[in-house]
Amino acid sequence: MKIFILFLFFIKNIVCFSQDEGSKILCNYIKLKSISGNEKPAAQYIEGVCKQMGFNITVFSDSDSSYNFCASLLPLQKKLPSILFINHIDVVPAEDSANWNKTPFSGTISNDTIYGRGAIDMKGLAVMQLMALKKIKQSTNVDSLKNNIIILFLSGEETGGINGAAKIIKPQLLQQLNPLVVLGEGGGGLTNIIPNKPNELCFFISNAEKKSIWLKLEAKVKTNGHGSVHSNKTAHKILLKAINKIENTEERIVIDKSTKQTFKQLGSIMGGFKGFIIKHINWWIFKPLRKKIFNSNEALKVLVTNSYQLTQIQNPEKGAINQVAQSAVAYYDCRLLPNKSEKPLLLKLMFRILDPRIKLTILDESPSAEPSKLNVHYYNLKKAVQTVFPTAKVVPVLFPATTDNSYFRSVDVPSFGLLPFQLSKSMVESVHATNEKLPIKALNDGINVYIDFLKKYYTP
Ligand SMILES: [Zn+2]
Repeated sequence: MKIFILFLFFIKNIVCFSQDEGSKILCNYIKLKSISGNEKPAAQYIEGVCKQMGFNITVFSDSDSSYNFCASLLPLQKKLPSILFINHIDVVPAEDSANWNKTPFSGTISNDTIYGRGAIDMKGLAVMQLMALKKIKQSTNVDSLKNNIIILFLSGEETGGINGAAKIIKPQLLQQLNPLVVLGEGGGGLTNIIPNKPNELCFFISNAEKKSIWLKLEAKVKTNGHGSVHSNKTAHKILLKAINKIENTEERIVIDKSTKQTFKQLGSIMGGFKGFIIKHINWWIFKPLRKKIFNSNEALKVLVTNSYQLTQIQNPEKGAINQVAQSAVAYYDCRLLPNKSEKPLLLKLMFRILDPRIKLTILDESPSAEPSKLNVHYYNLKKAVQTVFPTAKVVPVLFPATTDNSYFRSVDVPSFGLLPFQLSKSMVESVHATNEKLPIKALNDGINVYIDFLKKYYTP
């Protein structure tokens, strides 16, 4: 018995040791400032860590602004179907560094919490993937594996994925990776989601993402004039009228197959009459209630409507205050439901409500991707979450933003997004903002979810 307890103690210490190692790696990784376009030094550091752990390294591109590589359990030359973890090396800037409690790129640990830009998004997740892979390597006879496990480190996610994921999904490279499934960032474990059950912990695994389209609206008039002369035909007034029309257009409510699954699960968790309505919100009998329900809950509304956010209004000319400008520009960040028909509908709407004097340009758009079906890999991930968090509920969800997952979905690779740990309100608020942080417990929970997920494919 004593030997057994000593054995358990030994095992426990191995796990603790490797998890301390995870914290150290994450702190060092945060210290290497890798704002989009300058990923190389951080990439080379984490690549070195992967090499030390004995993984196979394949570098796909190695310029300063586009460093993409993968660490795999087995060489890619084996051409095995793979479980593909993805993460991004780049982070957003920390312009408000004076407001941070710890310097954004110091990688400081305080009160068992790791602080710094990228702690959650997405260096923390990369370290979880890495530590889980290390554990599998230690406990498995890798040569007998039928599937490869690969971690793909990508550049430029925060700037749209052109320098990263967009390159990797080209057929030649994708063939080398041969992914059965992609696991990337997405929803996490949250409480205070179900109105009548605030303590219920719900994990949201994203199986779809909205498509982003950035639009430029430009009004131009031939003549400008003196500010003292009244006119309704100035560039700014034409543009403002168009903006008003867009802002006052009511968004359609669309409940498609994948959102239907989300409401079904949310309704079951809620229970009662309200839960019944949410569960069956797609029924025609509840159609008259939809507008009221969704307009009173922004978190639900975002799942069933497109959004058009006016992000900037600019005056391209630098004239005097008493000089009427000849042109005015507005920018819209549109987020569309992931159905093929949404983009043509958006453009139709824009053409209808805009003035012919306004030029409409698409500046950028994310790939069009259909939702991933909830397959065996989704259910393996769900089970892994519930092994580490036994009371948690797991819900598939449409992610309202766009990540690299969409690139893989666009080439028909099933992709699921998850932050495999519980997020407090202050953690959620810290992403892309001040005092980004990851408690060491969350780091360890995430490692354990991934280990449990991988065990579904490999029995030690
Ligand atoms: Zn991210």
